[in-house]
Amino acid sequence: MAGSDPALSLALSPLLSPLRFASRAGVARLKDLEPLVARVVASARAFASGDSAQALDRLAAAAQGFDSAPEPERRTALAAVVRELAALVPVPEEISALGARPAGVSDPPAKLAEMKPAPALRRASTDPLATPLTGLRGVGPAMAEKLQAKGLNTVEDLLLFLPRKYEDRRAPRSVADAPIGERSVIAGRIVTVREAQGRRRRLEVVVRDEARGTLICIWFNYRSSFLKRFPLFAQVMVSGEVREGYHGNGKVMHHPDVELGDAETPFRLDESFGRIVPIYPEVEGIYPRTFRRIAKRAVDEYVRWVPDDLPEDIRRRRQLLSLPEALREVHFPEKFAPGEDPRRRLAFDELFMVQLGLALRRRGVKVEPGIAFRASPQSLQRVISELPWPLTGAQDRALQEIATDMRKTEPMNRLLQGDVGSGKTAVALCAARLAVEDGYQAALMAPTEILAEQHAISLRMLLRGAPVHVELVTGSLPQRERDDAARLLRSGAAQIVVGTHALAEEATAFHRLGLVIIDEQHRFGVMTRAKLMSKGHRPDVLVMTATPIPRTLALTLYGDLDVSVLDEMPPGRTPIATKVYRDSSREKAYEVIRRELAAGRQAFVVLPLVEESEKLAEVKAATKERDRLAVESFPGVPIGLVHGRQSAVERQEAMESFRRGEFQILVATTVIEVGVDIPNATVMLIEHAERFGLSQLHQLRGRVGRGAAKSYCLLVTGTTGAEWGPAARQRLKVMEETTDGFRIAEADLELRGPGEFLGTRQSGLPDFAVAELARDQTILKEAREEAFDLVQSDPDLRRPENAAVRDQLLNRWRGRLSLARVG
Ligand code: ADP
Ligand code: MG
Repeated sequence: MAGSDPALSLALSPLLSPLRFASRAGVARLKDLEPLVARVVASARAFASGDSAQALDRLAAAAQGFDSAPEPERRTALAAVVRELAALVPVPEEISALGARPAGVSDPPAKLAEMKPAPALRRASTDPLATPLTGLRGVGPAMAEKLQAKGLNTVEDLLLFLPRKYEDRRAPRSVADAPIGERSVIAGRIVTVREAQGRRRRLEVVVRDEARGTLICIWFNYRSSFLKRFPLFAQVMVSGEVREGYHGNGKVMHHPDVELGDAETPFRLDESFGRIVPIYPEVEGIYPRTFRRIAKRAVDEYVRWVPDDLPEDIRRRRQLLSLPEALREVHFPEKFAPGEDPRRRLAFDELFMVQLGLALRRRGVKVEPGIAFRASPQSLQRVISELPWPLTGAQDRALQEIATDMRKTEPMNRLLQGDVGSGKTAVALCAARLAVEDGYQAALMAPTEILAEQHAISLRMLLRGAPVHVELVTGSLPQRERDDAARLLRSGAAQIVVGTHALAEEATAFHRLGLVIIDEQHRFGVMTRAKLMSKGHRPDVLVMTATPIPRTLALTLYGDLDVSVLDEMPPGRTPIATKVYRDSSREKAYEVIRRELAAGRQAFVVLPLVEESEKLAEVKAATKERDRLAVESFPGVPIGLVHGRQSAVERQEAMESFRRGEFQILVATTVIEVGVDIPNATVMLIEHAERFGLSQLHQLRGRVGRGAAKSYCLLVTGTTGAEWGPAARQRLKVMEETTDGFRIAEADLELRGPGEFLGTRQSGLPDFAVAELARDQTILKEAREEAFDLVQSDPDLRRPENAAVRDQLLNRWRGRLSLARVG
């Protein structure tokens, strides 16, 4: 049956996230559905049999006219789209609800018969895991409602709701023994509850332990009803960081986790005490301790019913726990250290499923041929020789790889990674010229207008008069110019087209688009990329990124993408000497600046950017720092100022004066991150360097060292313990040790996690519940090997032993996979 074909499901999966969006945000906000459906249907045809081919026709027809229709018709059209989709593949319940007909309109029986059950109904009602939570002892309707608000409806939901961390409560400490600055668990009785009116309202709960030591627990933000949680003389266990009390008196804890004991349930060995305790994400209205009790029941009574879908031989080969065992240990660790084997099994599952999806898609990509460019070695040679300088070895290697891809009928899907300044533009230009040579157009899409303009300027400069027409298309062009550009694009006279996402808009049409180049791809949504690609017929795709994406991350993000790396800088750059200074030794850093200024050079002093809501504070801080430097440290030196509150014009003027040398020092908030080129500036001092991400420091540092002279980067840390402590120092040490953007990005990733590194939402990273990409590289590698082997040996996952994993892929993972795709 068509619906069980994973390849077809994957091909149609890009429809799921817009439909899910419509189910949440309403049909009125859904845009460009018709072209998307058309494109997705076109790409799905390769996987369709006779019946499903007709169903695909109906799907495409259902979306016709959607975008221009008024809302009621849109609703009807969308319902039809959803029904046709559901006839082809299983769709999640939240989406299938969109397909419901309005009351009074009856479904034609034939259609109904075709409809697949939604995945939530997939399990028979006798499945124990489908038991509603009210079926658990201790869960009544009121509590079930609170759980439901968190998306927890069935026992299965609860089993898959994982702790976010653990706390070792095997041995509570006495107040006297709890070290300042460390997390501790302390047991005692509540002896005082009071609200104090200081500068801020606060709640103080005094806990006294058996040795009569007292600890003050303090809350600043709380509702009045919160007080009821602390009956006087109740037994309590609190956990949090122990700090020194005010005026050096005693010990306090701010906003600790609290466990109350009471008459019926004094402390004893249970799910909340005397063991390694799971800390779950908060569920509003349910105390952690109560929640833990429910979770424990679910685990004890139901975990053995969890089916293990991973093929048995993989599980053995990789020595993974069974799924029930792993889940039990993840909730309530007993045999293993928390976060070891059980976590490994769950992380493996997640990564395996994504890799399996990628493996299936990679197999699918080869079905429909794209363009085979000639890209002859002679043309390549000529194009290269017309550049103003010889290519670096890395550029040459990357270009050869690209040319090889372009010659194949299989569409190119390649990522070009290169640090800032490594020369990606020249590589892109050469690839574009190969496409142009065969009568195709090349499009280069950049995330901002400034970048698009810069690209257009660089390309024209690098072409040095070669007869290739470069056209710029951005949203802010005057209408007349935009019309002109549109004509040139349609006629094919514009051979290389540079632009913003305006390129992907509906109104933009190409004559014969053969190569799509996307700069800073992680800043575009899936849809934008797909729309641009759909303007050609399976064009070759080259993605460029200056945000160095570590290999491991690239593998997961773009599993089926080939990668070329520019790991070599064009000649003539001098490395930047970097050193970390404590606040107390900032004079030494200033000495470096004085020496450079005396030699006629200029310096940046960079202050950390503050929250949007604190813009005024930023201006104040920047102004104050400028004045302080002018009075205390660099009397007589002209000092300029740029900050985020200035208008673009004011900022430009300040930068220009600095460029002309009217200021010797420029104090700036991080606004200088983009596009500054002042070769005479040889020093950059960064205040509160510990507040920056390493990758951001790397970008900032790239603003010096642009001339031939030796340059310096001085990282000054803050004044408090955490700011200059060992952790901050160790992190910043990476900057001292290397100027290699990839190494820095790897370190950044390890320290901060991938979500923060790229901004999960932007990057389209699948959101894993368990796997941590930085930490789980080995698991990722193993999962990838197994997934690709499996698809190799059973390309459609039709063997009975693989049925379970196929089912899971279709039901649990499709939505996420559509996020992980590149285009
Ligand atoms: P990226 O886009 O990778 O940040 P660019 O393509 O903007 O880097 O190149 C950075 C600078 O290096 C540009 O001024 C460019 O002209 C120059 N450049 C690029 N390749 C070479 C090379 N092979 N030899 C000398 N200079 C080069
Ligand atoms: Mg560039």
